[in-house]
Amino acid sequence: MISLRQVSFSYSDTPVLHHIDLVVEKGEMVALLGPNGSGKTTVIKLLSGVLRPTAGEVHLDGSILSRLKRREVAQRVAVVPQQFSMPFAFTLREVVLLGRTPFHSLFSDGGQRDHRVVQQAIERIGIAALKERFFNELSGGERQKAILAMTLAQEPKILLLDEPTAHLDINHQVEILDLVKRLNREQGVTVIGAMHDLNMAALYFDRLLLLKEGRIFADGTPEKVLTAETIKEVFSASVQVTQHPITKSPHVIIAPGEAPPE
Ligand code: ADP
Repeated sequence: MISLRQVSFSYSDTPVLHHIDLVVEKGEMVALLGPNGSGKTTVIKLLSGVLRPTAGEVHLDGSILSRLKRREVAQRVAVVPQQFSMPFAFTLREVVLLGRTPFHSLFSDGGQRDHRVVQQAIERIGIAALKERFFNELSGGERQKAILAMTLAQEPKILLLDEPTAHLDINHQVEILDLVKRLNREQGVTVIGAMHDLNMAALYFDRLLLLKEGRIFADGTPEKVLTAETIKEVFSASVQVTQHPITKSPHVIIAPGEAPPE
């Protein structure tokens, strides 16, 4: 449904991604992992059409993404960024309503259907009590939920996440990822997310894609991808991989460089 075919990308003259081939099918939940600078955000931006490949093509439902209108892309693909600020004093409800923009003409404030979809999105995310609060006065976790509601109002088939929990406390990380997983499981939304935390990725995602220096180094189930050897190779970090006691998914523990004192 969305794919990169032999995609390379350079910022000015600096090559960042090299011949990436990636096919993500409808309903998959895929995490992009890799050290800082390995190209995760760039992949997300190529998939959303914010950037165009220097070589190769991005395909969305059989069309070449760069040939589609922005609005056509936005009707199918939504992006949750790391952080989001609003230049205006918008309420949470108004921010969620922005998710409907791809579906109506400029300056119309949306008809009844839009308002119904917005209300449903707000209720689904569990933030109805906050809806008249100003977005910029919400906490980081509340804002991230508002953004998720906005993307939900967009009724996307594909949800792209760029480290959506990078600035959140653990409780909010879990809440956001629980919500994303529910969207995936209950509504069949395809999810592709750049993730920082290997253990969170293993807990929530079915398929992990490990990037190293702009190339795909490993691609598969958490069990296949998260091995001590692979992590050593890609992150230059010594770790042990155990099993999560509840989910049995792989769980990475950092092995300190020197043995701790007895
Ligand atoms: P990640 O998300 O894995 O940290 P990025 O996709 O953000 O990686 O970055 C990949 C590489 O591209 C890095 O070397 C980064 O410095 C470089 N880069 C990212 N954005 C820009 C930009 N706007 N201009 C120039 N180089 C950039």
